[in-house]
Amino acid sequence: MILDGKAVAQKVLDEVRGGVARLSAERGVTPGLAVVLIGGDPASAVYVKSKKGTAASVGIASPDYVYPEGLSQRALLELIDTLNADPAVHGILVQLPLPKGLDEDEVVRRIDPRKDVDGLTPVNLGHLLAGNPGMVPCTPAGCLEVLDHYGAKLEGAEAVVVGRSRLVGKPLAQLLLARHATVTMCHTRTNDLAFHTRRADILCVAAGRPRVITGDMVKPGAWVIDVGVNRLDTGKLAGDVDFASASTVAHAITPVPGGIGPMTIAMLMKNTLRAAERAA
Ligand code: NAP
Repeated sequence: MILDGKAVAQKVLDEVRGGVARLSAERGVTPGLAVVLIGGDPASAVYVKSKKGTAASVGIASPDYVYPEGLSQRALLELIDTLNADPAVHGILVQLPLPKGLDEDEVVRRIDPRKDVDGLTPVNLGHLLAGNPGMVPCTPAGCLEVLDHYGAKLEGAEAVVVGRSRLVGKPLAQLLLARHATVTMCHTRTNDLAFHTRRADILCVAAGRPRVITGDMVKPGAWVIDVGVNRLDTGKLAGDVDFASASTVAHAITPVPGGIGPMTIAMLMKNTLRAAERAA
């Protein structure tokens, strides 16, 4: 079975659109997502455009704050302070990575946790670790949404997460643990990656390496979530999982593109609506 992230994302966005309309009718509030983009990285510009387009489609305002490379750390922190204090802004998205010379950690820490729709501030990551998730990072939240939509059984399942980044692997492992899966995390120093992945009922891969997981590394009947987005020399996009071989072994698998990518943006909208509802 192919897990259709586009379709699940559409369902989430329809719910968000309904919630936005309700909030506007009942409280006169339009959710606002401030989008901050520094520098001219083309991939970041594409992501930002797509996030703004999706925001507009569900009725979320998304004023953008675009600066060329060279903006100082101090000016960026002042901008975050201004957005933190602006009642029309319910969510702040700082497009990462920031250009060299800017301290990403300090910028993220400065965001008011109530407006941290990416779920990356230490406060929100701490809530997640404490088993009391508040604002959850969008990509891991999207992985769980897909698994839940299709009815994957997480409780008691062997879940293996390949990748331990702050953005994806670590929060995803915490979300799976909170749902009572038995979780193993793998990374570049893991001895015998295939030994672990072959045990996985739920295999989530966020390594950022094309086709690092092949069909022979997948347990028959497993659910496979491929978070990776890799641009090949041919210009084509590829996941971290070799779809051709893995899809013959797995019970269910997300494609790339059309899997977790659309979910990430949908969950960003959901987080923004939730932040606006809480503020109202
Ligand atoms: P990252 O910060 O580069 O982290 C990659 C992680 O994978 C690291 O923990 C690394 O281990 C581990 N890893 C790398 N190669 C490995 C290997 N051969 N075997 C085992 N572990 C390996 O990347 P990220 O930000 O988490 O993103 C991961 C992928 O997801 C990327 O392709 C990215 O483009 C994609 N992504 C997609 C979305 C979306 O919306 N679909 C959102 C975010 C990210 P070490 O810690 O030991 O270095």
